[in-house]
Amino acid sequence: MDQPAIDRLRVEPVPEQVLWIGGRGVPAAGGATLDVTSPIDGRTIGAIPDAGPEDVHRAVVAARAAFEKGSWSRAAPATRKKALSKLADLIERDALELAVLGVRDNGTEISMAYKAEPLSAAATFRYYAEAIDKVYGEIAPTPSDVLGLIHREPLGVVAAIVPWNFPMMIGAWKLAPALAAGNSVVLKPAEAASLALLRLGQLAAEAGIPEGVLNIVTGRGAVAGEALGLHMDVDALAFTGSGAVGRRLLEYSARSNLKRVHLELGGKSPNIVFADAPDLDLAAKVSAFGIFRNSGQVCVAGSRLLVQSSIHDAFMEKLVAATEKLRVGDPLDLESDIGAITSAVQLDKNLDHVAAAREEGASLVTGGARILEETGGFYMEPTVFDRVRPEMKLAREEVFGPVLAVTSFDDEAEAARLANSTVYGLASAVWTSNLATAHRMVRAVRAGVVHVNTYGGADLTVPLGGFGQSGFGRDKSLHAFDKYTDLKTAWISLANR
Ligand code: NAD
Repeated sequence: MDQPAIDRLRVEPVPEQVLWIGGRGVPAAGGATLDVTSPIDGRTIGAIPDAGPEDVHRAVVAARAAFEKGSWSRAAPATRKKALSKLADLIERDALELAVLGVRDNGTEISMAYKAEPLSAAATFRYYAEAIDKVYGEIAPTPSDVLGLIHREPLGVVAAIVPWNFPMMIGAWKLAPALAAGNSVVLKPAEAASLALLRLGQLAAEAGIPEGVLNIVTGRGAVAGEALGLHMDVDALAFTGSGAVGRRLLEYSARSNLKRVHLELGGKSPNIVFADAPDLDLAAKVSAFGIFRNSGQVCVAGSRLLVQSSIHDAFMEKLVAATEKLRVGDPLDLESDIGAITSAVQLDKNLDHVAAAREEGASLVTGGARILEETGGFYMEPTVFDRVRPEMKLAREEVFGPVLAVTSFDDEAEAARLANSTVYGLASAVWTSNLATAHRMVRAVRAGVVHVNTYGGADLTVPLGGFGQSGFGRDKSLHAFDKYTDLKTAWISLANR
């Protein structure tokens, strides 16, 4: 990745976008579109189709027809493996182009987006392609006159609804296991980050994935997303996004065909630093990165720092120094540590959280303001609030922006209590040199992941998902297959009658 190559791609006109249905690019039936505003400079760089219920229906019908035809759902594992591996190769071939297009759409710093988006999506397709012919069914421990077989079967039509942060990575976490298991999929990207995902349709066709197996519909959540949620022929909804929308999906399921719903929702993840942390400089640097990368627009962001009182002042000094070193700027500049906030709406929400925290009496240590306004883009300073009490809004509600809430604790019991004091339970971290403390905290903290002496970076081999109102169902690892397959029992009499 080099700057001249990025600069060549950043000025390329965004071509006319089409929905991907039944193996073809098509406009929305009503011809409606939504403008794409780049957070880099606030300019309109293109448009995406604004799909309505009719388009969603066409996509579901195409997906069902492909599933019934069986050229994917009943294909030999080696066939699906070959096509998904090829898709991974094609994503890697076009990685820089996809990364730059995605950054123009959602503002993630390119240094992170290149690895976290196309390269991680390619790795995910490859991981599940490799798994296809390595996951076996089961033989039950029955009496000898019976054979009990447990088959895993694809569900049918899976709808994947994904958010605007890391759309390719999160999209691949759902598409890859769902497709590998033999399902057909209808993917609905977020309004604010559809461009890179729309390219996947063409790449899937080039990889030899049969028409109708992967369909992509863009548009408004309340229209296209709702139509998918209520559709009677969708078998499962795999969702990543906010709790408010997650609740709606559960309602859609109840009001329609009881489709199964898997929710990966938000978090307010505690990052707990004990006085005996092995390296406080490293802990400060990683903690700053753990909240501020992608401007805090990360579901697992360590947005609550819990620091032991005895090291509070010394640690804050290091943390603030690490924070103030971060360079916010043009996300397509390799020198920027942090890029843009994805939209003007999201920037306003972040600033509202800052105002509310000030009003409630939290003390602003650094940041707090919009910056680089002259660019027309949406940028914000990395922001740290100290003396945040657990009952304050900033300690309870997800900001999904570059705002860190710091609270002190005296002992392990208080740290665990504070860690578990929100409705969420997505991620967390514990920094300590004491092995026993680390293990006790791993047990005590209610979260899908507890990092120890690090923050983030958990790879594909381990599951990701939430406790509490952070959702249910797991992305990543072989456990993801549980969401996209059903178990079927064959109970076979071997009696010699
Ligand atoms: P969002 O819930 O607003 O939107 C997510 C998706 O749902 C989008 O595609 C949107 O179009 C669609 N949608 C919106 N309204 C809908 C409706 N009424 N019916 C059906 N679909 C609808 O979330 P967002 O703002 O795009 O993303 C931010 C949220 O996602 C944060 O809460 C963040 O924590 C969460 N997130 C979670 C994870 C995780 O793995 N747990 C990962 C990334 C983001």
